[in-house]
Amino acid sequence: ASFQNFKLNKQLLNAIKDLGYEKPSEIQVKAIPRILNGHDVIGIAQTGTGKTAAFVLPLIMKLKYAQSDDPRALILAPTRELVMQVYENILELGKYTDLRTVCLYGGIGPKKQAEEVAQGCDIIVATPGRLLDIYNAGVLQTKQIKTFVLDEADRMMDMGFMPQIRKVLELLPMKKQNLFFSATFPEKVEKYAHEFTDFPEKVEV
Ligand code: AMP
Repeated sequence: ASFQNFKLNKQLLNAIKDLGYEKPSEIQVKAIPRILNGHDVIGIAQTGTGKTAAFVLPLIMKLKYAQSDDPRALILAPTRELVMQVYENILELGKYTDLRTVCLYGGIGPKKQAEEVAQGCDIIVATPGRLLDIYNAGVLQTKQIKTFVLDEADRMMDMGFMPQIRKVLELLPMKKQNLFFSATFPEKVEKYAHEFTDFPEKVEV
């Protein structure tokens, strides 16, 4: 398989080249075409498999360039560290686009993050609690969010985030693409996955 086989634009192919990725990983081969086709996807893959780029590449492809000031994609991750990792992937792969990404996480005051959201962005990467705090501060418009990603869903469940994630979902439009990524897929995670996705295609490595 080759990155050229995906319907990715020049900006992405050049960023991939700069990073030195020679070929797509297994999860990327399985997930990227399905995400580009607009399906909801459940991806089962551990860290280290390239699972972040598996959703970041098609996400950047769909958003293409900065548009309105309201975010069009939301990625939730369980910890500040994971939020930062996803953010770095977006910066690296989106380096030839003008997409604006804002990170929201706890442990520091919300004021600066709220200001960044108010200034306008295309993508938000957040922990669930801080996303709700910023929403409640009144600076976040969620109506344009057309792609929702839940990263490390099994860890989210272990950390007790599901009630907050359900609240976040209530803020989002009904019609959107849902991507559910988890390292493991025991029955309880499977049950949640079907709560967050519509007719999903499941891919596994
Ligand atoms: P992840 O599984 O998302 O935590 O990614 C693990 C590491 O693999 C990250 O440092 C990525 O930059 C890198 N990576 C992602 N996709 C590829 C690829 N196709 N070829 C080589 N490295 C990759």
